[in-house]
Amino acid sequence: MRYRLLTLIASVFVMLGLSGAAHAADNADAASSKVKAVASFSILGDMVKTVGGDRVAVTMLVGPNGDAHVFSPTPADAKMLAGADIFFVNGLGFEGWMERLENASGFTGALVVTSGGVMPITMREEEGHHHGAAAEDHGEDEITDPHAWQNLFNGEIYVKNIRDGLIAVDPDGAETYEANAAKYLAAIEAQDKAVRAAVAKLPEARRKIITSHDAFGYFGNAYGLEIIAPEGVSTESEASAQDVAIIIRQIREEHIPAVFLENVTDRRLLDQIAAETGAKIGGTLYSDALSDSDGPAPTYLDMFRHNVGALTAALSS
Ligand code: ZN
Repeated sequence: MRYRLLTLIASVFVMLGLSGAAHAADNADAASSKVKAVASFSILGDMVKTVGGDRVAVTMLVGPNGDAHVFSPTPADAKMLAGADIFFVNGLGFEGWMERLENASGFTGALVVTSGGVMPITMREEEGHHHGAAAEDHGEDEITDPHAWQNLFNGEIYVKNIRDGLIAVDPDGAETYEANAAKYLAAIEAQDKAVRAAVAKLPEARRKIITSHDAFGYFGNAYGLEIIAPEGVSTESEASAQDVAIIIRQIREEHIPAVFLENVTDRRLLDQIAAETGAKIGGTLYSDALSDSDGPAPTYLDMFRHNVGALTAALSS
């Protein structure tokens, strides 16, 4: 009995002590009490922020306008990942540097592959690089197109994976994550309808575009646009002179109206293609990264609004 009473008194003191300390340190500690999440690139970073809200502190490895294909993690990145509770990656081979970083960091938190459950687009190496003429060459490696986020239906799968990952590491926040995700999913669905409506207004013969690297395969499949890219699904390999010659011929033969720059790639190649074919430069599409906060595509949904606006402006008439 006496023991119990002592325990009770002790726990009251502990509670008082804790609540006092929590008050005093409320602001200073607000960040450290949050779930520490790392996202591999800016598009995921935005999604995790939207689902996580105030409960989650998000750090991005590859920030706005950065190219995750050719990212090279630093020791500081490894140290930062080591202190994280949860690590969100795209998967599908997008982060070729990921395993090395994970091993270097000794990360022991939860790893969430946000593309888990999407239907991947795969292509033969050659097809990816658009060496159409050499198609009789068999035994090529199959490569997976990692840019699944460019289909908003896949974006919904990403959001559900993010929600479930956050709930697993922070069950107390389940209600918040469920509510934030539900609202977000509704907004993504509305954006999907808007993209379909905008593409439906484009003349069918003009639904063909050139981009520098092949980042819009999922977008094209989902929304009915033909995308041609000299560089393949990664920015790592440069287009060969033969690739460029094939594309220039294709633009002339098929009367492809516009070529689009990307925020993560060099514009010189497309400037050259536009100059040689007379196709116009249709503006910049955001492919693998968001813009910074004062740019035209600071969020995942803004990216679609901006890209569809650029496509509509260039392809309408
Ligand atoms: Zn890419």
